[in-house]
Amino acid sequence: MDQLYGGIEAGGTKFVCMVATGPENVIVETRFPTTLPDETIQRTIDFFAPYAGRGELAAIGIGSFGPLDLNPASPTYGYITTTPKPNWAQVDLLGPIRKAFNLPAAFAHDVVAAAYGEQFWNPGNQGLDPFVYMTVGTGIGVGVLANDRPIQGLVHPEAGHMTIPHDWQKDPFPGVCPFHGDCLEGLATGVSMKQRWGQPAETLPDSHPGWDLEAGYIALALANLVYAYSPQRIVLGGGVPQHAGLHAAVRSKVKQVLNGYIQAPIILERIDEYILPPVLGNRSGVLGAIAMAIALEGASR
Ligand code: ZN
Repeated sequence: MDQLYGGIEAGGTKFVCMVATGPENVIVETRFPTTLPDETIQRTIDFFAPYAGRGELAAIGIGSFGPLDLNPASPTYGYITTTPKPNWAQVDLLGPIRKAFNLPAAFAHDVVAAAYGEQFWNPGNQGLDPFVYMTVGTGIGVGVLANDRPIQGLVHPEAGHMTIPHDWQKDPFPGVCPFHGDCLEGLATGVSMKQRWGQPAETLPDSHPGWDLEAGYIALALANLVYAYSPQRIVLGGGVPQHAGLHAAVRSKVKQVLNGYIQAPIILERIDEYILPPVLGNRSGVLGAIAMAIALEGASR
């Protein structure tokens, strides 16, 4: 039979594990809450063990919440490093999984995995370079693929924490980021929306001013990404942008912020084709991890 691939989306609230060859051929998929590290990693290993035991898995891809050590030369490569999530700081995620199966394993940030997924599995996104995926949910993350690789340097980009203009008159909310207060993540996550308005974002009516404020913050962030990376397309995913009308509001505000400065027809005339929702919905990350496994195995042949 054809070789199968393992995909792991290691999130701060849940893990999603999948055995598949692609979106059209998912053999098995599960999701379970992120509890203590040992327990959660063991549950992940147990999920793949039957397939690995029968020799059916060719490689595994892991997209994880971070921050991560992504330097293969580092003694703590594959670790989740300074996360504020209790019990998960300095946890080796990649090591136990590689040790359990002795298979090639690709390791990346969850937003990078989602970027891979959206590009690899959507022919319309292939060849677009750079390609940006931004998620706005309980956190904000940005994955940037350039020359078919994630941008990575000293550590990895943390564009979710970019500084954006904060009008304290219009929005006196101080922000929720434990490091920066009113950075983008501090002002614009689902968590900050809930704290600012005293109710979950998904319960705010369409007419609530919170949506206009949110669209404005996301648009400022996307404009900064356009200036910094000049992406050929941006996919905007996560729970918050699923609100009806938010994508349209963001697009129109991005054009306002850019103010005609970026002379690209796709922005000036066809911004509906430039900022798009994810085609894989909430499976971008885990299917991206599958794509990473396929790419890794292909490269090692
Ligand atoms: Zn921050």
